[in-house]
Amino acid sequence: MPGSIDAAGAILTIDLAAVRRNYRSLLARLGGVACAAVVKADAYGLGATRVAPVLEAEGARAFFVVHLDEAAALLPLLRADSRVHVLNGLPPGAEAECAALGAVPVLNSIEQVTAWGGLARKLDRALPAVLQVDSGMSRLGLPPADALRLAAEPALLAGIEVGLVMSHLACADEPLHAANAMQRRNFLALRAKLPAAPASFANSAGIFLGRDYHFDLARPGAALYGLNTTSRQPAPMSPVVHLAAKVVQVREVPAGTGVGYGQIYHASGPTRIATIALGYADGWHRGGAAEGAAFYRGTRLPFAGRVSMDSITLDVTALPPGTLLAGETVDLIDGSHTADEVARAFGTIGYEVLTSLGRRFHRRYLDQ
Ligand SMILES: *Cc1c(COP(=O)(O)O)cnc(C)c1O
Repeated sequence: MPGSIDAAGAILTIDLAAVRRNYRSLLARLGGVACAAVVKADAYGLGATRVAPVLEAEGARAFFVVHLDEAAALLPLLRADSRVHVLNGLPPGAEAECAALGAVPVLNSIEQVTAWGGLARKLDRALPAVLQVDSGMSRLGLPPADALRLAAEPALLAGIEVGLVMSHLACADEPLHAANAMQRRNFLALRAKLPAAPASFANSAGIFLGRDYHFDLARPGAALYGLNTTSRQPAPMSPVVHLAAKVVQVREVPAGTGVGYGQIYHASGPTRIATIALGYADGWHRGGAAEGAAFYRGTRLPFAGRVSMDSITLDVTALPPGTLLAGETVDLIDGSHTADEVARAFGTIGYEVLTSLGRRFHRRYLDQ
């Protein structure tokens, strides 16, 4: 992590109190159903080692990551009764490492079941696991035929303690999409054939589909981090991220002056240009320049020309001269200009904006 706030080019502030509020608000919506925390990809770029303990303090006991390495980083920070589940399951050869760590693999194939069960019998102890069935997304999980094979050959599961049966929704962010009800029916049918265990189905958007989708344990990620996974306005979650970048230099240019790579921008009149210390190497998509803007106390400052690797040029003519000086900051993401909105300018989703946030920012965590 970069050093002091004075030396940094940009400051990323992560509001852990807002993460807590978001968890509580999901819990309230779940009305008694347990709520896990998905903290994969470093808690969507926000810092899993900071986020997971905070959610554990709010009562979360189930955490989901994608890789075994992510589980290894978290387990020492969590309570003995918290479980870290590995969504990609077991890469061949990693079974012993997973068991030694005490991580819980999400078993997605007969091969993974066989390898995990084999290790359990070799170690002569039961090993915990989640069974994931593919209810219609065709990405991860036991295809229906393989789930039925497990039902027909229960010996395959000998030594495996199935703590959860889960599946994942493909279209939960479109409440009227026919795939939601279809996947739910498939999940219910497959679950009925497998060993009795609590069921987990809903991601953030799935929680907003209502009770029928909640089952026993919800698995939100995005909503915890303030993203709006519904089409509702105002957004149902509290914003978590604030990104500000420092002004490196300010200059006045006469009409007609070209700015930045390719000089695709030319000043239409006398213009003040501020160069800020953030660019595509910090996760700010080069393709989003046309609609890009930063904000200074509410004033919109449009990007002038292309996004560079380490900097962006802004047209700050709208501000009175002398208001924005080198070392001062402008806002790129805040409560009124959210990651979801930035994503629209980039032609992507808020998830990608958060997980792309760069490694060079000075990070501040608030928790009050
Ligand atoms: C990423 C992921 C989640 C969390 O999804 P959000 O949309 O961020 O809430 C839940 N379950 C699985 C299997 C995932 O891969």
